[in-house]
Amino acid sequence: MKRREIQDVHTGQTRTRPVGLLSMMMLALVLAVSACGSSADGELSLSQSDNTSESSEADSTEQESTYPSSDDEVEDSSVADDASDPSGVATDADSGVDLGVFFDGALVGDATTEDCTLSGGAETSCYRFTVSGFPSSYDVGPFCPSTITDDADAGGIWFDGKGVYDLDGEFIANLADLYDDDNWQMYDDNGDVFVTETAEEFDDAARPDVDPELKNHCVEGRLEWLENSEPVTSEVVIPIVPVAAESAAISRGNQGVTLDGVTIAASAPVEAILGAYTIAAFDDCGAHFNPFEGYHMHGAVGCSEIDEVADGETPMFGYALDGFPIHSPYEQGTAPANLDECNGHSTEGIGYHYHANNAANNQVLECLVGQYIAGDERGGPRG
Ligand SMILES: [Zn+2]
Ligand SMILES: [Zn+2]
Repeated sequence: MKRREIQDVHTGQTRTRPVGLLSMMMLALVLAVSACGSSADGELSLSQSDNTSESSEADSTEQESTYPSSDDEVEDSSVADDASDPSGVATDADSGVDLGVFFDGALVGDATTEDCTLSGGAETSCYRFTVSGFPSSYDVGPFCPSTITDDADAGGIWFDGKGVYDLDGEFIANLADLYDDDNWQMYDDNGDVFVTETAEEFDDAARPDVDPELKNHCVEGRLEWLENSEPVTSEVVIPIVPVAAESAAISRGNQGVTLDGVTIAASAPVEAILGAYTIAAFDDCGAHFNPFEGYHMHGAVGCSEIDEVADGETPMFGYALDGFPIHSPYEQGTAPANLDECNGHSTEGIGYHYHANNAANNQVLECLVGQYIAGDERGGPRG
């Protein structure tokens, strides 16, 4: 039911500006010169997320760290000699961001090319493009089950840093046991699950100080509850060819984008969410809505993948903000031994790429080995 509502809205709202990828790439090249210096806010990377908080997720974890900050995350790297990259990352000059691998509908409008200065000081060329903020390759939702007898098809998933759980009725019924706290009671005497049912409830459950009335709610948003009932697009500025950083940086803010145009967010602030006796439900693609950032992803579970997969590899599904591809997690126990501290490695034919963590970790990437666009003064609250 919910799923269909979202779908309907989606159909009506999100496919308004399909962009031919090839033509866009051409345009990006053509516009390369004219785009230079045209933007005063050229340092923003994922610009929609200024000062936003996350759903019940609204604690400082996500709130303060929406942007990667070069100051505290990347030690001053002298870029001139990035060839002597200590992390051993081979940045193949031929490799780089390929806008052609994004799915139809993932990018809105034209991509442009511009000069940019990266977190470690490297001056290079970047793509600037806007992602749709809503997937076109799969259906969003469902998130929360309606009753404690619902099966896994009725809900999405939850992950808390320890495990990935199907959000079925049984999960809701067993919350007090799982988290060893009798204050969990997310369903009524009829077995109906308390789920956010209006835009207001969604907003109130998504604040840092969750409305007490909304404790013990399964929190889910809908596209139609976002501003103007539209997806929240994000502008991305990303180095066309990755430049190694002097040292790997922990990425606490947004980490990248999926090939389907969805922001890959930082860890969901699970402690705050659970502390308010809420579950900020994810759908089966490890993503969910919040009122400010719209639909965004926290866990890689095999969505938005490209078809081609090299031997011994997992499919690519996104780009990190440093321009390196992100591939799906390896099955447990099958990861090669050569993954570095950021879960990345270089392989023949692919070059350097990351492997996402298992969704259970509630963190898609461990860190970034490349430089990215330094966050600057944020543009104030989003409108
Ligand atoms: Zn979130
Ligand atoms: Zn790999």
